[in-house]
Amino acid sequence: MPTDTADIAIIGGGIAGLVAASAIAKHVSSRIRVHVFEQSRQASFGESTGGAIGLYANGLAVLRDIDNELLETVCSQGLPYANRRWRRHDGTEIAVGDETLLVPRNDDNGSFDPRLQPLGIRRWRFLSALLDHTKKHANIEVHFEKRIAQDGIQTVTETNGSSSIQIHKLKFKDGTEFTARLVLGADGVKSQVRAFLFPETKQPEYTGVTTLMAVARIPPTTDPSEPEPLSRGIHFISSRTSKFHACMYPLPNDEINVQIYIPTPENPETWGKLDADEMKAEAETMVAKLRADGWNETFVQPWLKPDSVIRVGLRAREPLEKWSKGGTMVLLGDAAHPPVPYIGQGAMQAIEDAGVLALLIKHLCPVKPTGKDTDGPLDWDLSHFETVTRLYEQIRVERCTQVLKSSHVLGEMNQRRADSWFYNLQYEWSIWMQVLAGGNLPIMLKGVYYSYAEEVDKAITGAGSDNIAV
Ligand SMILES: Cc1cc2nc3c(=O)[nH]c(=O)nc-3n(C[C@H](O)[C@H](O)[C@H](O)COP(=O)(O)OP(=O)(O)OC[C@H]3O[C@@H](n4cnc5c(N)ncnc54)[C@H](O)[C@@H]3O)c2cc1C
Repeated sequence: MPTDTADIAIIGGGIAGLVAASAIAKHVSSRIRVHVFEQSRQASFGESTGGAIGLYANGLAVLRDIDNELLETVCSQGLPYANRRWRRHDGTEIAVGDETLLVPRNDDNGSFDPRLQPLGIRRWRFLSALLDHTKKHANIEVHFEKRIAQDGIQTVTETNGSSSIQIHKLKFKDGTEFTARLVLGADGVKSQVRAFLFPETKQPEYTGVTTLMAVARIPPTTDPSEPEPLSRGIHFISSRTSKFHACMYPLPNDEINVQIYIPTPENPETWGKLDADEMKAEAETMVAKLRADGWNETFVQPWLKPDSVIRVGLRAREPLEKWSKGGTMVLLGDAAHPPVPYIGQGAMQAIEDAGVLALLIKHLCPVKPTGKDTDGPLDWDLSHFETVTRLYEQIRVERCTQVLKSSHVLGEMNQRRADSWFYNLQYEWSIWMQVLAGGNLPIMLKGVYYSYAEEVDKAITGAGSDNIAV
């Protein structure tokens, strides 16, 4: 079978992979041939299934820098949260945060870009918007049903006179082969690229918590006894007695996304939509449990007739200190740093990774036009790529570790609330105080107040001019 050649091969066409492809086309060059290899069927990208995802300013800003139109499409497919509310399972309120405070302000006049306000969006709509955007770039090709395994990856060094370059040979499950000069491993929590680079790292371990995620259509309430309809903001609901805690947020078309976190000793391997019978059984069990524990009917409602239910056994992994081995293969997104989802920053970190990588490549490995003809053959010198990976790790590893650690902390605190009424009281009081003082929960600020472009500028300046290819 003939072997095709890519300048960049991105393994995994999820959030990290698709954003990285568009960011490279925008920031580095529209002449680099970027091939994205995704194991799923193309049709699965347009299926109105699955759950939803919350997007925050730090990730939305990367999309804006790729193309305003991309940001606007994403905003039009999602729904911004008016506020952030912490409530007890019986419906009583603990605190209300202002979501506009989660959008970085302009230093000069305090104004902000309202498109960066946190929003909820169906995951399939978000992925479709990212995929459609790649079609604007003739140099990006997304291949579906291309699964690679660890043993399908091989790296060789080719020498030409005094210079040598790394070439990556990729062989997919369907037998097709590609070679690439650069490989980005964006293949998620069970990454095969990570297994190839770091075969010694441990597999992700089940955290003891399972999430049931459902999307249901709920027309806005006209019940005057419900002071804050779910359709307005993101809600965090907790129960001290059942040990469940939940997150609910509104979506367009009167849909509500609900994630309920349930301590479960066994390890469900599922990540996927349940079939109709499983979904019905899970939803009925959930309704019975919530009612028995005295949950307010507003929070029970999404489980009465959900459109889709997904079960996810949350897994965690020790953070890696290196995301590459110094060559021309690097990890990004969940492949490098799988999150637990209590702070809604996993995908945002993946998007930041993509933005940082693209800008570093732009500065350190620019594509030069050949002679007068800017459309001539690609002259792409990757000799500074080691500096790209060094600065990439310098910018990203600590940042991701810190943000994603705060997600673990938040999850553990929520679980502990069920163990002690005193701890729960302290926790509620602390949320109330922090929101009263700061307008929103400060732990959220660490994630959203971040400029990936400034971090790249600082790192490049700090690295000195010797490292900059001009
Ligand atoms: C319940 C839950 C709720 C969450 N909510 C949020 C939220 O609100 N906000 C947020 O920011 N984050 C959230 N996250 C985290 C977020 O989903 C992930 O961090 C994000 O999806 C990571 O993107 P990724 O592209 O790195 O990985 P993925 O989204 O996993 O994409 C990886 C892609 O690679 C493909 N792939 C895998 N293996 C191979 C292979 N061998 N060959 C080819 N292709 C392959 C997969 O099919 C997939 O398309 C949540 C996570 C969970 C579990």
